[in-house]
Amino acid sequence: MEVKRKEQRDMNTKRIILKDRENPDSEQLKEPAKILREGGLVAFPTETVYGLGANALNEEAAKKIYEAKGRPSDNPLIAHIADFNDLLPLVTKVPEAGRKLMEAFWPGPLTLIFPKSSLVPYGTTGGLDTVAVRMPADPAASALIRLAGVPIAAPSANTSGRPSPTTADHVWQDMNGKIQMIVDGGAVGIGVESTIIDVSGEEPMILRPGAVTQEMASAVLGKEICLDPAIISGPLKADVKPKAPGMKYKHYAPKADLTLIEGETDAVVLAINKLAEEKLEAGYRVGVICTDETSDLYPGGIIRSIGSRLKEESVAHNLYAVLREFDDLDADYIFSESFSRSHLGQAIMNRLTKAAGYHIIKVDREEQEE
Ligand code: AMP
Ligand code: MG
Repeated sequence: MEVKRKEQRDMNTKRIILKDRENPDSEQLKEPAKILREGGLVAFPTETVYGLGANALNEEAAKKIYEAKGRPSDNPLIAHIADFNDLLPLVTKVPEAGRKLMEAFWPGPLTLIFPKSSLVPYGTTGGLDTVAVRMPADPAASALIRLAGVPIAAPSANTSGRPSPTTADHVWQDMNGKIQMIVDGGAVGIGVESTIIDVSGEEPMILRPGAVTQEMASAVLGKEICLDPAIISGPLKADVKPKAPGMKYKHYAPKADLTLIEGETDAVVLAINKLAEEKLEAGYRVGVICTDETSDLYPGGIIRSIGSRLKEESVAHNLYAVLREFDDLDADYIFSESFSRSHLGQAIMNRLTKAAGYHIIKVDREEQEE
């Protein structure tokens, strides 16, 4: 499939600042809703990350998303809806597992994959017979989608290959001149993309971990839900067909060489300091991704806390902003602490390990032998 990577910035991008994201003023949202309805592109905040919206039922509009992001056109888009009634026209079937998960987590940070109806163009689904649907909880996103009156395809509003945007400024850096409008609602809440669960097959399966965790979904379904093997094992081999087509593309990689150090915290701090010192002595710009609990323990390098270990939501919230900052600072090497791989930690580690190109150093002997 054709990949358009030509940098085109020939549009005058308007930016509107929401007066109240919790209670959006429909007068303010009339213009972006009209742009969306008429086939244009508008970036807007959701509770996960900023989305780059277009009419999901209009193939030409979906095409513009791929152009603005430089995204391969067989990497499908998620259709965002405002009400439960909006789902039925898009799908041919709502399997039992899908119904249970929707009832438990919609509106919220959960995307479900259903068999698609003929209403949804292949230009939105990357040629697949399934469609990914989410009902965002963010009041501004919800009001905008409802006003537009059509389902809105909205991938993350970043240039393909950059970290997802969690503020309107991030969107501006990537999309200024390429889209009609940015709706600025300040920083998003969660900070990592939605959980994706495929309910179109025999067994539901998590294709991307997010804030609706494996534990939460399993509890609702009454049995352990599996993760797609690619999430656990890392990069796909050429002959494996990925369930989420996005998995086969090169994921975001920071400009710097990022390494995760995993193990017991004291040992991790020691190891990072040793690695950082070596690189600093060799004259490199070195970044350290640490936590509020450990930030005093690093004497050298550019030290950034990603959040508190006691509050994993804060780590998810800051993750992409910290990675963007290190890109802007032109770091050569980044050494990062690691997190648990359960609950929200699963989503955090999924994004961090991908960003590190699966380069992980284990310093905890016991864990290594397990
Ligand atoms: P983004 O829009 O950047 O949050 O990424 C959307 C993700 O959803 C990509 O990884 C897609 O591959 C995945 N996705 C969208 N639609 C489908 C579908 N019908 N089947 C499987 N994965 C999908
Ligand atoms: Mg994305």
